[in-house]
Amino acid sequence: MVDRVLVTLDGAVQDPDAPLLYADDIGALRGDGIFETALVRDGKACALELHLARLRRSAEALDLPEPDTGQWRSAVETAVKEWGAEREGMLRLILTRGRDGHAAVRAGGGELSGPASDVTGYVLVMPVAERVARARAEGVSVITLTRGISVDLAQSAPWLLLGAKTLSYATNMAALRFAARMNADDVIFTSTEHRVLEGPRSSVVVQRDRQLITPPARNGVLPGITQRALFAEAEKAGWDCRYESLFTADLITADSVWLVSSVTLAARVASLDGLRMSAPDCAPEIVELVDRGIARAWSLGDW
Ligand code: PLP
Repeated sequence: MVDRVLVTLDGAVQDPDAPLLYADDIGALRGDGIFETALVRDGKACALELHLARLRRSAEALDLPEPDTGQWRSAVETAVKEWGAEREGMLRLILTRGRDGHAAVRAGGGELSGPASDVTGYVLVMPVAERVARARAEGVSVITLTRGISVDLAQSAPWLLLGAKTLSYATNMAALRFAARMNADDVIFTSTEHRVLEGPRSSVVVQRDRQLITPPARNGVLPGITQRALFAEAEKAGWDCRYESLFTADLITADSVWLVSSVTLAARVASLDGLRMSAPDCAPEIVELVDRGIARAWSLGDW
């Protein structure tokens, strides 16, 4: 069984153990690029069309040339086929601005311009991390950490790229390492106004009775595909789903808090800043709604 699959945007299956990037790739030099992470399940990339749509949106935010959706779709299909249907996989779509000096910028987006072929693009499938099964089954211990920014910044400082999925994840990973030193599994970022933002790699969803609430994207969080799939399915099942600002205190008084994301899917917050949070009766239903939502996400349309 292969343990990773690498396919470049031209559709070629590459040796995943051979070097691929040029040393001067701006993705490596500056983290200047975008990505998507999706779950491979039953031999299919879950919610692929939504991931491709978000890739396009992120490209636009970074003035990258518009991704050729057909090319990405067929690279993903090749990679997923190579991976097989026996087990889940973590699928990544990586797109960088390309090499320094040949940098690709969308027409009108800056002084440099170049054809889309100057970008670096590839698809990588890897095994799902071991922590994922544990997070799904047992939930996660979470600490809240400040991101040091205001919820107003997404609107007033678009160059911070707050709604885009960029390759600049070093601070997100640093927050997770900080949490590990505090014996926590994960993090919920908060704003300078003590508003709930998101996890370093997940959206936050709060459950109160038959209500699900998540912070709106305008507060500077990534619009989450898993959260959206959950809301679509939950609404059909009679839940009241809302995009509203939440304060840190709202997490403590909630019936349950969830970190939802494409690969882990639904992880219940089992403790928050050291406070135990017990599972509500509806916990299995929420897990089921996410599972079903992600399987049907192809019908959600564009963003
Ligand atoms: N927020 C951030 C910062 C993320 O990195 C992710 C996913 O990796 C999410 C939210 C959840 O998004 P999705 O459900 O589309 O995976």
